[in-house]
Amino acid sequence: MALRRTILHIDMDAFFVSVEEALDPSLKGKPVVVGGNPNKRGVVAAASYAARKYGIHSAMPTAQAKRLCPHAIFLRGNHKRYAEFSKRIFSIFEKWSPRVEPMSLDEAYLDLSGCERLHGPTLDVAEKIRKAIKETVGINASIGIGSNKLIAKIASEYAKPNGMLWIADGMEQKFLAPLAIEKIPGIGPKMAERLKQKGVKTAKQLAELPLEFLETVYGNHGESLYHKARGVCGSPVTPREETLSIGRETTLETDSADPKFLLSILSFLAEKTAAELRQTGLYSRCITLKLRYSDFQTVTRSQTLPAPTLDDDTIYKTIARLFEGSFTHKTRVRLVGVRLSALTPSYPQQADLFSTHSPENRDNLYRGIDRIRDKYGFRSILRGASVAGEL
Ligand SMILES: [Mg+2]
Repeated sequence: MALRRTILHIDMDAFFVSVEEALDPSLKGKPVVVGGNPNKRGVVAAASYAARKYGIHSAMPTAQAKRLCPHAIFLRGNHKRYAEFSKRIFSIFEKWSPRVEPMSLDEAYLDLSGCERLHGPTLDVAEKIRKAIKETVGINASIGIGSNKLIAKIASEYAKPNGMLWIADGMEQKFLAPLAIEKIPGIGPKMAERLKQKGVKTAKQLAELPLEFLETVYGNHGESLYHKARGVCGSPVTPREETLSIGRETTLETDSADPKFLLSILSFLAEKTAAELRQTGLYSRCITLKLRYSDFQTVTRSQTLPAPTLDDDTIYKTIARLFEGSFTHKTRVRLVGVRLSALTPSYPQQADLFSTHSPENRDNLYRGIDRIRDKYGFRSILRGASVAGEL
């Protein structure tokens, strides 16, 4: 029998706004919007529940928010402050489980499987965590509890604001059945649109489609849709330290001093590591080149990026720059390697909020490439520069 899992998805309510309110309680209950100057371009990073009553929501242009609620209080936001609060919140999580997977500054999965003997009933633990956050950090959290990440995530969304929802074992599919398909994490607006065109509006309707049909129509997505519709999700809770870095290196068949050839191998390795990075759902901020010369001298050169990345192009360009800065041409190289570290959880939604252009398109491009590779193999798509370095 498979081990029964107990997963919590914990998510702060209106996090940025809640932090502002904790620091200035006079803001409580008022329509507060975090996210830049309403008279300039910019988007809403977070809106208080009072502001949401006016139809304001995150990712909306601040100018539009201002029109909807002219007397709202607009705050520029302070990422450093939010990061500090986040740290305090995560230190609470870590008291309850060694398996904490951060999803963003204010959101994490906790695996409490098998912790009942130690901590007591799960529902009590969840309430204690909520209380601890409220008492020590001063903000509200909502918690979803279920047998997997998918269910826990949807449950926490349901529980908002300031609530808890536990979906008992065996109730997953029943819980999902009436939900609109776009409520299911991983079904984006485009996929939802395609499904709706076929008359599939709810999880129940999705669950009625046979696997073969889904695979024919949606390719590699088909199987995942099939499982999601049933509330099935096998993805483990992966603590940050288990994915501290991702790297690839290769010893050349013959030592080489040809920069073009070496760069083509590095391009291939960059693509490989980037694809692995995207599978973890994390972004990397630090890129490292490794060269070992034929005399076994080894050099590593690292570059910290201004913003975390997951795309092949940025990773390869950084590696190429590091290579050009360190390769001597004098000694032949016997091993090359690429390593990505300083991994941080992906929070594109929040990352967006402080800039006007979105990294989303780029992310989508690479996720599209990954899907094609899933189906046809890694080598079905390669950067031009990698072809010579294909191993
Ligand atoms: Mg949140």
